[in-house]
Amino acid sequence: MAQPISTVTPETEYAEIHGWVHEIRDLGGLSFFLIRDRTGIIQVTIVKKKALEAVVEAAKAVSRESVVRVAGTVKGIEKAPGGRELVPDTFEIIALAAVPLPLDVSEKVPAELDTRLDGRYLDARRPRVTAVFQVRSCVLGVIHELLYAEGFINIQTPKVVAAATEGGTELFPIAYFEKEAFLNQSPQLYKQMMMAAGFEKVFEIGPIFRAEEHNTTRHLNEATSIDVEVSFADHHDVMDLLERIIVEVYSRVADTCPAALAQLGTDLDVPKAPFPRLPYAEAIDIASSRIEEDLAYGDDMGTAAERALGEEMGEHYFITDWPTEIKPYYAMPYEDDPGICKAFDLMHPRMELSSGAQRVHDHDLLVSRIESKGLSAESFEFYLEPFRYGMPPHAGWGLGAERLVMTMLDLPNIREAVLFPRDRHRLTP
Ligand code: ATP
Ligand code: MG
Repeated sequence: MAQPISTVTPETEYAEIHGWVHEIRDLGGLSFFLIRDRTGIIQVTIVKKKALEAVVEAAKAVSRESVVRVAGTVKGIEKAPGGRELVPDTFEIIALAAVPLPLDVSEKVPAELDTRLDGRYLDARRPRVTAVFQVRSCVLGVIHELLYAEGFINIQTPKVVAAATEGGTELFPIAYFEKEAFLNQSPQLYKQMMMAAGFEKVFEIGPIFRAEEHNTTRHLNEATSIDVEVSFADHHDVMDLLERIIVEVYSRVADTCPAALAQLGTDLDVPKAPFPRLPYAEAIDIASSRIEEDLAYGDDMGTAAERALGEEMGEHYFITDWPTEIKPYYAMPYEDDPGICKAFDLMHPRMELSSGAQRVHDHDLLVSRIESKGLSAESFEFYLEPFRYGMPPHAGWGLGAERLVMTMLDLPNIREAVLFPRDRHRLTP
């Protein structure tokens, strides 16, 4: 059985490893190979005069990024990575890699993001890239655990739907027999319907599709949304939940992924709860005093406003009490001040991470909210019906998984946080 490379120490006597040829250095009578598996890198040293002929032959024929099986004695040696090297009596090529490689895996030659994404299978062999996806896996694992521990039911809702969640235009139409259908932009309506079903606490971690044409470093056309919905809860309850999750995810990643974080050179600063809850009206004042563009009460927060606010706040914060006008119809207006609603955004200093709200649970109010947005209540009949037969008050949010990972690891582009990004120009691989 092959041994994970990271478990080979200077004290190991004999080891068999399987991995990829990370680097080859041939000094004539002496050659060095770095062999890599997902746990680490080890130096393999061949002294041609002393080595078996079969070993010398295979070592001569092998190319970088080939898969090999190497076995031999281990020696402590200070200059080698991990303070040890392997002197092989077996060096077997399992899968020879073609030459030249489309992409340099050893990170000596920096590649453009596009080239890297084209050859993602090679790009992901780089320890830094593997580390991002180890952290992403940990983040999603921790969120599952936390939500299960709080009694949530994990649900899966349809991704092929007949109507837009918010009546917007950002939808991908698809051919669905003789009907018009779309890829769902959010599980919003379905998770709310499960409140009518009495599930009380649900979550879904799944894809959302947005036909946004712009190409930014924080938008994807297929993203992963972490969605929750909770009955008998208001916006503050679900802000508390979101805050707990963010803090716990950071601290669990710091505890369980030290190797990946070290690989990325990231020192995780665990955010401190409670996060400031800044009313929209104040947020607009702060932002408009700091940016050149005109920004007035009732405007959406643009990129410049978000950045200016982020600089001012310097940490995670919520923007609360949004004008009802600019939030979706399902956000609950304050009873005593219906011009503002119980919606919030969770912001990282760099960008929005999540949007949520206490929802409208009264059928007639919801119909009038839908109509006031210029939408037809008829096309929402499947969604509205449950509100007529006992819908509890409820609240929830959607949190972008890629944005969470991107901001946590300070990645420059959201595409770094997804294996095979879908954007305006990219449909393969
Ligand atoms: P933004 O204004 O930043 O484009 P949004 O307000 O349109 O985001 P929501 O509909 O509120 O997004 O979706 C909830 C969360 O899902 C967002 O806060 C974000 O984290 C994530 N999200 C939404 N759209 C995208 C996207 N195109 N790419 C990546 N993540 C997204
Ligand atoms: Mg939003």
